[in-house]
Amino acid sequence: MMVFSKALPHDIGSLNDVEVVQVLRKGDEALHFTRGPLEVGATVTQTVNWERRFDHMQQHSGQHLLSAVLEKEYNLPTTSWWLGADECHVELDAVKVADDVITAAEARCNDLIRQGLAVKVKFLKMGDPDLDEAHTRGLPKDCMATIRVICIEGVDENMCCGTHVANLSQLQAIKLLGAEPGKKGKTNLRFVVGNRVTWLLQRMLERERALTALLKNEPNKHEELVQKMQKNLKITNKNLQNVLSELAQVEIDKVKNTKPKYLFLFKKEATPEFNRAVCKGLEGEGLFMFLASEEPDRPKEGQIIIQGPEEHCNALGQQITELLKGKGAFKNGKFQGKAGDMGGINKCKKLIEEYFNKV
Ligand SMILES: [Zn+2]
Repeated sequence: MMVFSKALPHDIGSLNDVEVVQVLRKGDEALHFTRGPLEVGATVTQTVNWERRFDHMQQHSGQHLLSAVLEKEYNLPTTSWWLGADECHVELDAVKVADDVITAAEARCNDLIRQGLAVKVKFLKMGDPDLDEAHTRGLPKDCMATIRVICIEGVDENMCCGTHVANLSQLQAIKLLGAEPGKKGKTNLRFVVGNRVTWLLQRMLERERALTALLKNEPNKHEELVQKMQKNLKITNKNLQNVLSELAQVEIDKVKNTKPKYLFLFKKEATPEFNRAVCKGLEGEGLFMFLASEEPDRPKEGQIIIQGPEEHCNALGQQITELLKGKGAFKNGKFQGKAGDMGGINKCKKLIEEYFNKV
């Protein structure tokens, strides 16, 4: 069902309580697509999602202001802009935007917001000399008869069909979030305006509060503390590697001295390096070996190695990989791969034990 409206696309909640799912512009009319039917010829009441509308008004009017300041005062023209769910960006025709430009442009925009300059709309006919003053990124071909121009008092004139605030004080504040490389030598300058500044600050405060509780120290110590923890973790990991490599040697020596029929080695906390080191150290022994470890973050899953004389591998390999839901294949007499379910490990132990009791 379609009805015509001058209203803008993305913030119409419903028509006669029927949900609007999409709005497309066609010429100077907007096509509304609704979830349910509407009676042909009926007069409809349109409900605007005001929270969303006002948010879009703030972000979009803020973009007019930011683009005007960047172009007029810093020679940085805007080639497009993007309104995201959490933040927005303007795409600037420049490879890089210096940090001091970002700081100064933000201060300038906030200064103009404090002045509460009027934002007015005027309608001009094609060919009106006033249009020479107005800025555009190109008009759609099907929308040329009456041109709508948005004027920020003394700052900017811009052809636009969007929704805008009535004066700059309604923007409250603008915060520039940083510049990133964009497409083909352009730069994306990220920003939020108005209520989004408050929402963003609130989310940051919640994250900061969570970190303060975890790190048990004030926010200005967070960076230092995390760096310290990362450094300590690196040292601990290195120490663990050394201990595991010594332990691997102990296991190897034990097998060489006791000469068992087979090796079953399951250490939950073993690393794949540990298991490989044990295998390598015992390669020449002609011994059937089964080694397994658990994934540290997914204890149900693990890593397994099966290696040894072909007759034993043939007799046990398939049953073991089935019990542990192993993913992988025997290659050059060796199975090395992931186990999808370590729950079968005790059955596996029993299977190997019984097999070697018989042979
Ligand atoms: Zn606009």
